[in-house]
Amino acid sequence: MRLVLLGPPGAGKGTQAAAVKDRFGIPHISTGDMLRGAIAAGTPLGWKAKQIVDGGNLVPDEMITEIVRERLGAPDAKRGFLLDGYPRNLGQAKSLDIILGGLGQKLDFVLCLHLSDAEIVARLSGRRTCDACGAPFHVASAPPKAAGVCDSCGGKLSQRADDREEVIVRRLAVYQAKTAPLGAFYKERGILTEIDATGGVLEIQERLFAALSGGG
Ligand code: AMP
Repeated sequence: MRLVLLGPPGAGKGTQAAAVKDRFGIPHISTGDMLRGAIAAGTPLGWKAKQIVDGGNLVPDEMITEIVRERLGAPDAKRGFLLDGYPRNLGQAKSLDIILGGLGQKLDFVLCLHLSDAEIVARLSGRRTCDACGAPFHVASAPPKAAGVCDSCGGKLSQRADDREEVIVRRLAVYQAKTAPLGAFYKERGILTEIDATGGVLEIQERLFAALSGGG
């Protein structure tokens, strides 16, 4: 199963991707996670990306496409994958076609999560992530047992630099201008399913699994 998860920041892509990964045994490939990893590790890529990511803008296509090309060529992605955060614009969608064509593969599903701007801001501003294992929490809807501490590994919970309100507004504008048009691109190809991303994590997960098993 080869799929792309589309949707605005805060729609729950990361959380849902983890569920799909567990259910179908395919790697969750998040370009945002890869960039944050590079920034935390202080690699040359991280240095180049940091200011752009912190400002809520997109890093240059060629920078990210090379990372995706390499990742999709890895042995664990041979039997399937879930891409989260890529493609982010039409140019990247076309590059993805070329990468997959070179591997003799094609996308099976594109799932697009939908959520109102007001709900996005509420979700993102309360979002916290474990520094050590990446587990997601939310101060209101999914709080950790002890404030600021990861339930899974005891790591410290942090707020992403780009989850501040002024950056959220910028990321939403970038999504509308650059990424939202991908819905029409994949709809025309007949592989798009739109998913209502309101409600609880498990409700959304059910809609997603139903779509993937052909019932959505
Ligand atoms: P995300 O975790 O998917 O919300 O991504 C966080 C940030 O990483 C974005 O706001 C961008 O700055 C950068 N980023 C992630 N994926 C891409 C991509 N495919 N193209 C360009 N920038 C990206």
